[in-house]
Amino acid sequence: MKKMFLLLLLAAACLGLYYFSQNKETAAAVAPAKQNNLPEVLLVNGDHPLPENYAPKELVNLYAQKRHFLLANSSIELEKEAFEAANRMFKLAEDEDMNGFILTSGYRTREKQAELYAENTDGTAQRPGCSEHETGLAFDVTTRYDSGTFEDTAQFKWLIEHCWDFGFILRYPKDKTNITGIAYESWHYRYVGEEAAKIIRENGWTLEEYCAARK
Ligand SMILES: [Zn+2]
Repeated sequence: MKKMFLLLLLAAACLGLYYFSQNKETAAAVAPAKQNNLPEVLLVNGDHPLPENYAPKELVNLYAQKRHFLLANSSIELEKEAFEAANRMFKLAEDEDMNGFILTSGYRTREKQAELYAENTDGTAQRPGCSEHETGLAFDVTTRYDSGTFEDTAQFKWLIEHCWDFGFILRYPKDKTNITGIAYESWHYRYVGEEAAKIIRENGWTLEEYCAARK
């Protein structure tokens, strides 16, 4: 009888362990998907417009900050977190004698995007609600040494090597236009956080592919 009781106890313990491991697995599988809810990995494109009431968390005017890069004008804004990551990145560039980066565009309101969309009838501007610039997490960059093509500059070569380490991705790569639906843009970088940027780089993904894999 005692033996029977012990066997039952053992069976119950095994069952408990089994359930525990099952639950743990479920939790682990769910955790990465939650990252898609972070604003840093928010997918914005023609099929995924921003919600009408989307508002950036904390925009900062870059002209008012201590910066390690130049600005095309004094009204450019970014989300604080994206600015801080960009500033750390350009500080490293400076330390490595890679100077002359100029940010030309950051946050845009939906109204501003609507204006651009109306002005650019050649299809290069995104529909209002569908531009990453409306998140405040993307910037366009050039250099003072740019003679027309950012891609041909030493600054581009430096940036494409280092941006990932600071949580930025080249959002519209040359060989992925069929997935992004956007022509190659060597100058447009999007903040997604260091973890996502690392995964995207390792897999050679776009943000679309990263988000699809995390579903
Ligand atoms: Zn851009």
